[in-house]
Amino acid sequence: MEFNLTNLVRPNVLAMKAYSSARDEYSGHEGVFLDANENPFPSAVNRYPDPYQRDLKEELAQVKRVQTNQIIVGNGSDEILDLLFRAFCVPGKDKVVTIKPTYGMYDVLAQTNDVQLIEVPLDPDFNLDGEAILASAQGAKMILLCSPNNPTGNLLNRNVILDIFTKFNGLVVIDEAYIDFSNGKTFLQELNNFPNLFVSQTLSKAYGMAGIRVGLGFGNVDVIDILNKLKPPYNVNELSQKFALARLRDVKQVAEEVLQILLERSRVLAMLQENKHVERIYRTDANFILFKVANSDDLYQHFARNQVVVRNRTKQFNCENCLRVSIGTHEENERFIEVLNEYNNS
Ligand SMILES: *Cc1c(COP(=O)(O)O)cnc(C)c1O
Repeated sequence: MEFNLTNLVRPNVLAMKAYSSARDEYSGHEGVFLDANENPFPSAVNRYPDPYQRDLKEELAQVKRVQTNQIIVGNGSDEILDLLFRAFCVPGKDKVVTIKPTYGMYDVLAQTNDVQLIEVPLDPDFNLDGEAILASAQGAKMILLCSPNNPTGNLLNRNVILDIFTKFNGLVVIDEAYIDFSNGKTFLQELNNFPNLFVSQTLSKAYGMAGIRVGLGFGNVDVIDILNKLKPPYNVNELSQKFALARLRDVKQVAEEVLQILLERSRVLAMLQENKHVERIYRTDANFILFKVANSDDLYQHFARNQVVVRNRTKQFNCENCLRVSIGTHEENERFIEVLNEYNNS
């Protein structure tokens, strides 16, 4: 199927030119800068940041093995997903397809942008139904798939997703916020094969930088150019760019931490399996575990009374009586298990 951006992008967005900031019009590092009405007295932050985060993108291109012009950096991946809605969907008219259960922000973004969100159920084991997705996606602008999925934790079937790339002529967005915890492969290396593929990642999870709000979008150059027209000029602040760059230059440390989290995940899984209140543990490819108990409201309260905070997902589709627990440090996980075992005895 043909991917035709002219038909997909909102006409007003297609027609507009990107806002040109002071730092767009002169991009050199050296000079007497009297163009942006900044306070000239030097500090770490008296100058506006690079609007295109070039140093950060150079590093990202190496770490992620993509081209710099295939990258957009956002104030969290939530900003990047919002840009996609605003670039492609005419409010009150267009629709987007996703799965359920999935990440709650998609619904918020759809509502904010007055876009209809069609939620196609995963099966009770949380597998993706490609045929159902494609059937619902007739005339839709985007398909939004989270893999590994939140709150279920599982990776979606790769071949089913590849099939969707070839059969859908809109944009297919894969939210890979948790990909670094998975044995599964990222879709980044498919960017050159599928012009309609867009991958979203984040520094908030495996990279340990939720506090600096850095989200990553990867897509074909034409899509990236469109998003660059819409993004606020200085959407990623100077401190975040610096912190992110330093962390990316130390990916060994990131890999070390991810390994620790995965070892802890195995340990927590084993202990959950032994607990008589745990009725089902769902397969996880992420840094959290979804598990089912007899009464999740009651167990949630028990945890809360003991100042252990987990997420009660019982209201999510097919997640009745399910709790979601993030993998913490060894000590935090010990406390989680200890409190769970006290419930066991009560
Ligand atoms: C945590 C999470 C994100 C990350 O969002 P940021 O805005 O980058 O912090 C994205 N998608 C999913 C599914 C998540 O769970």
